[in-house]
Amino acid sequence: MTTATDVDNTNKESDSTEGTIKEEMSFQADTKDLLNLMVNSIYTHKQIFLRELLSNASDAIDKIRFLSLTDGSLIQGDEEYSIEIEIDKYAKTLTISDNGIGMSYQEVIDHIGTIAKSGTRNFLEQLQKTQDLDLIGQFGVGFYSAFMVAKKVCLQTRGYDQQEGVLWQSEGEGTYSIEAIDKEKRGTTITLYLRDDAVDSTTPQKDFSNQYTIRNLVEEYSNYIQYPIKMDMSREEPPRDSQGNQVADGEWTTVVETKVLNSMIPLWKKNKNEISDEEYFKFYKHHYKDWNEYADVIHIHIEGKIEYYSLLFIPSRASSDLYSKDFAKGIQLYSNSIFVMNDCRDLLPEHLRFVRGLVDSKDFSLNISREILQHDAQLKAIGSNLEKKVISALKKLLKNDRKKYEEIWEEFGKAIKGGIYMEISNRDKLGDLLLFKSSRKDGAYTTLREYCDRASENQTEIYYAAGKDIDAIKRMPQLEIFIDKNIEVLYFTDKVDEFMASNLDTYDNKKLVSVTRENFDLDKVLGDQKTDDSENKEAADKGEEQTKEPEAEYSSLLDAIKEALKDKVVDVKLSKRLKNSPVCLVATNSGNTFNMEQLLRGANQVAPRASKILEINPYHKLFGALKATHKKKSENADFSDCCELMYYQALMVEGFELDDPVEFSGRLANLMVNYYTQSV
Ligand code: ADP
Ligand code: MG
Repeated sequence: MTTATDVDNTNKESDSTEGTIKEEMSFQADTKDLLNLMVNSIYTHKQIFLRELLSNASDAIDKIRFLSLTDGSLIQGDEEYSIEIEIDKYAKTLTISDNGIGMSYQEVIDHIGTIAKSGTRNFLEQLQKTQDLDLIGQFGVGFYSAFMVAKKVCLQTRGYDQQEGVLWQSEGEGTYSIEAIDKEKRGTTITLYLRDDAVDSTTPQKDFSNQYTIRNLVEEYSNYIQYPIKMDMSREEPPRDSQGNQVADGEWTTVVETKVLNSMIPLWKKNKNEISDEEYFKFYKHHYKDWNEYADVIHIHIEGKIEYYSLLFIPSRASSDLYSKDFAKGIQLYSNSIFVMNDCRDLLPEHLRFVRGLVDSKDFSLNISREILQHDAQLKAIGSNLEKKVISALKKLLKNDRKKYEEIWEEFGKAIKGGIYMEISNRDKLGDLLLFKSSRKDGAYTTLREYCDRASENQTEIYYAAGKDIDAIKRMPQLEIFIDKNIEVLYFTDKVDEFMASNLDTYDNKKLVSVTRENFDLDKVLGDQKTDDSENKEAADKGEEQTKEPEAEYSSLLDAIKEALKDKVVDVKLSKRLKNSPVCLVATNSGNTFNMEQLLRGANQVAPRASKILEINPYHKLFGALKATHKKKSENADFSDCCELMYYQALMVEGFELDDPVEFSGRLANLMVNYYTQSV
């Protein structure tokens, strides 16, 4: 009979009797530790083992049912799917059987003998620390929970395409045995030899050989499993006369009846008025393995041309892989309550990929393929309706429960912003959902609507500043005039923000403009209160009169600076936006901003250089010094050092790396030498 060949487990021992081979194998170290934890379990919620085993049985039936859609012969003679539970009070065993897909010899070794998942160690530590048993199902090691109640577990299985069965046995102490056996039908039977503390007849909840305990657990945890969970239940009947009336004399008889323990009616087909929050939560938790309470549930039943049910959950926490490429969107497809497929990508757009849920329509064909789905008009219609429902649920949350909305925004905001970035047509749908922090009130979020409502009538633009975090943004010299004049600026701290803003373009007819752009419509905003710089005048000019047209007055100076920096900047201007800083760089109105350029380069993408304009604060002492140096034509080297250093300063403030730090340091040294030798 079959032997496992390419198994990496050590300590294989074969014991051949009558032609069969029984192999003894060791669990891997991580599995051993996990088992050890189960065997010596001090957890109080041991009953979860039943939920885990039933869910495995149901998964196994899902799998064979799915295969049989294309090849009906696979299930011939065993068409009625079911899960059976059997209690043997005397032998103290609990047996769970399914007629699911079963496992081959190698599959038993791979799936039952090994934990293939990475991160087991981390999981174990977490489990020990939090004592949170729900983690077991979440992590996908549910099978081992059997060892919390069993001193020995026997698993008999036969894969749907196998000629023979497999018997796997373990006492949970480091090793297991595996051998080929005869098994008549496909599917899996798991027998638990219950531990003494799991048949505690003094506390029924802890007695897993008690039929009522088992029935209650199924109702509580596994009610919506789609296949009947059957169990023989016995009761004592008193003696009766021929009319059926109870009589005093005679023997009590034991009546055994096979009962279906679960209701099987899927939650989504129930009337939503009859469903409690707790029921939704329980469903969500076990269906989507998220142990945090969801933020909102959308329960839809649409009748008419297209008929369907849908149950959608907006989680409160992002799963850790939400922003990774491999994230599998969570919308499942059911046809008439029968599971068809997981993560159907075409039901919800990328920007709502955090939503979990399902759609059930009797119009879906069971063996629909992903390729067909892509072109399915019906599915598209459903999808666009679901999208509308989710967006309107989000808007409602924003309006009615701001705190909760802000919490989910922190988790999923990036995905929503990504929607506008990826697809320009999304801007009208999603613009109202956006939140940003702003200069108005540190740490508080604002919507674009609220921003516009606060802005003065004359303000025709929405201003934003982008940087790696709020502290960095607050240091931006370009922000000075806005702070000074009390004009609100949105803080863009996510990488996607500025790219998103260029697609969004306008909101409420106001253009989104970076404060680092060359021109904006600030004059209109400032209205009469045009820049008033009398405080700075004295410091800047040491007595020189300021004329009405500084640009004209200093044109020769500006030309000289431009000449000195001609390879570096496209223009040099006197700044209207600086209050305290001596210089800053701004980007021309088209093309990338500095922030965009840096982000693209950081992501190793080709990014054209943003065209830089150097702005000088005419009221800063540095400008005075520059003028003085410019006048002393004889020492032109000093002037060019001055210009270069001014440029480098501005560059560093923008967070750019210096192209040539050696040159920078050389010029700084020159200047210091001149300064100190002159002042000595
Ligand atoms: P998970 O169910 O999350 O994968 P488990 O520890 O519960 O983790 O089960 C491990 C694997 O063992 C399953 O993925 C499946 O391949 C296999 N398995 C467990 N129980 C059954 C069963 N009743 N029928 C077929 N395969 C099963
Ligand atoms: Mg499982």
